[in-house]
Amino acid sequence: MTGIVFLGPPGVGKGTQARRLAEYLGVPTISTGQIFRDNMAANTDLGAQARQYMDAGELVPDSITDPMVENRLAQPDVAGGFILDGYPRSLAQAQSLERMAHTNGFQIDLVIDIQAPRDVLVAHMLKRAGEENRADDSPEIFARRLEAYAQKTAPVTDYYRDRQVLAPVDGLGTILEVGERIVCVADSVGLLAGSDK
Ligand code: AMP
Repeated sequence: MTGIVFLGPPGVGKGTQARRLAEYLGVPTISTGQIFRDNMAANTDLGAQARQYMDAGELVPDSITDPMVENRLAQPDVAGGFILDGYPRSLAQAQSLERMAHTNGFQIDLVIDIQAPRDVLVAHMLKRAGEENRADDSPEIFARRLEAYAQKTAPVTDYYRDRQVLAPVDGLGTILEVGERIVCVADSVGLLAGSDK
């Protein structure tokens, strides 16, 4: 079973691109941020636990996030492959994912790392703040999320580069342009082979 990971700073459009590729490949997207937001909206215990960290622009602790991902990856709909959006976000999470892969019989075959300059990320955040009303899309909290990314998530790229599955993708351009680049990358590593694409 093939897993694809989307990495990249907040505001780079990785959620949008992850959903587009998932639709293209016919596999589910697992977005940890979206699962947390859904739980917050539904007032679950998990939502209450995550809220304080999300509202502060910090990462939710691994003791909450890792079991949530492990449970999701045990669902039957991931048997044909899956896309992870927003996980792993630290070296410790990357190691947890490797352990889950070992136990559950899947592998991460491709890690798409979308990058864009900070001013583009901020512009995207401001646009999204108007459209989606996310509590963590304020300039101050967004700056903290960028910092959490630089400190904790950026080192994950080295981890996957060493494993020779990292594919950097230029995040500048329209959704369609960036999406085209991603499909090319997926094709180049053989992930479209055997599909009707
Ligand atoms: P996102 O929608 O991916 O931008 O995530 C929004 C927020 O959810 C992040 O700023 C974190 O507070 C939290 N979050 C999402 N994914 C993770 C993760 N893998 N580990 C810890 N916190 C996460």
